[in-house]
Amino acid sequence: MKPVIALVGRPNVGKSTLFNRLTRTRDALVANQPGLTRDRHYGLGRLGPREYLVVDTGGLEPVAKDGIYAEMAKQSRQAIVESDLVLFLVDGRQGVTPHDHVIAAELRKAKRDVILVVNKTEGYTHSMAAADFFELGLGEPETISASHGDGVRQLMDIACEKLPVLPEDEEGGRRIKVAIAGRPNVGKSTMVNTLLGEERVIAFDLPGTTRDSIYIDFERNDKPYTLIDTAGLRKRGKVFESVEKFSVIKTLQAIEDANVVILMLDAQQDISDQDASIAGFIVEAGRSLVLAVNKWDSLDDYRKERIKAEVGRKLTFLSYAKFHYVSATKPFGIAAMMKSVDEAHAAAFAKLSTPKLTRLIQECVEHQQPPRKGIFRPKLRYAHQGGQNPPIVIVHGTALDAIPDNYKRYLETRIRDRFKLDGTPLRVEFRSNV
Ligand code: GDP
Ligand code: GDP
Repeated sequence: MKPVIALVGRPNVGKSTLFNRLTRTRDALVANQPGLTRDRHYGLGRLGPREYLVVDTGGLEPVAKDGIYAEMAKQSRQAIVESDLVLFLVDGRQGVTPHDHVIAAELRKAKRDVILVVNKTEGYTHSMAAADFFELGLGEPETISASHGDGVRQLMDIACEKLPVLPEDEEGGRRIKVAIAGRPNVGKSTMVNTLLGEERVIAFDLPGTTRDSIYIDFERNDKPYTLIDTAGLRKRGKVFESVEKFSVIKTLQAIEDANVVILMLDAQQDISDQDASIAGFIVEAGRSLVLAVNKWDSLDDYRKERIKAEVGRKLTFLSYAKFHYVSATKPFGIAAMMKSVDEAHAAAFAKLSTPKLTRLIQECVEHQQPPRKGIFRPKLRYAHQGGQNPPIVIVHGTALDAIPDNYKRYLETRIRDRFKLDGTPLRVEFRSNV
């Protein structure tokens, strides 16, 4: 599981600037997905010696008691509790403010590991920029410029040293690790009980980390699976119940740790921003995905048509996933859903041979040449597999920088069809020799 770093500080100190720098992705898979909106508060941290989740906690202002802002504030405070390390940002040009003192006090109470970060220090010496901030009582500050990048790499080297080492995958992909993700009340716990009620549960509950994630091992048709809980499940008698409040961080960690994610939607509700942002994170993490639209038992035909159209419209960037209309209570659609889980897992770990890939690329070119760009005509020569989970195909040739996105999508579609890569994202990358 990935450790969590929370960015904390009053408004305008540069949290989102730092967040963007830490989570910046050069990944075309994410950049080129039409309709995909990235959540600006939660991301995968890539700058530094290891990966982590980053949470921008927003301004931590005293906020309204209800509505979307209250919900955001709740998730922010929860993020501090659930984080492994806090980066507390202050503004080096403004000096210490009373609000900084309030936050410092709150952090001391939360008993988190904290690094004090003085931002906007471009053009200042370290000692000049840091001097003011010792009075916050959080030790020696680090000085950075989030917008220019000065000191950020060094900061993340220090931060990553402080992060705990969380348990890694030991089974090497033999077991299919499944996470059921979705916002509150879509039916995740009900689905877990239905799934496990039919099956032999071998073991459950593997506490140990502060977040008490649980892994439930079970077998279905003689196949071993591990279910990674996102819903705060605890076993009460014979059934699993959700006893904790919804946690974005837990959801993101489970997605990261899974091989296949079942994204569950509630057919009785319209698709919300929260659904879309969980979906966006699954894509960004490169996870295989099966979409389950739950509570299908409770709909009339009119509503069924409406939700189908809405899913098609709002979640176009999930076109690589199989869709299932299911019921956790009746239950139905579950065998087919689990079949898609198996297929998505197989696709994520598929082995694509160099001769087959190269032949396919040549067929694609024969059928349709990449367009000329100026004096350049891209030439595709051969392809090989550059990675698994998700599969990466690296195409070699000349002038490949000139290949337009739609031609790239054409190649992706053909590779997907030929190798039956349903359910997994697929990355096609180009390497030009000239
Ligand atoms: P947030 O409210 O804490 O998320 O702050 P933002 O990231 O939105 O930044 C607030 C303002 O500070 C923006 O105008 C940024 O361009 C600016 N800013 C962020 N980092 C730096 C920095 O390192 N140096 C300077 N001079 N300005 C910065
Ligand atoms: P969670 O928060 O995602 O774990 O959701 P729960 O499993 O607690 O379910 C929330 C509510 O939806 C409960 O009242 C369930 O009985 C109901 N529910 C769950 N699955 C279904 C279903 O397939 N059909 C119908 N009609 N209701 C369901």
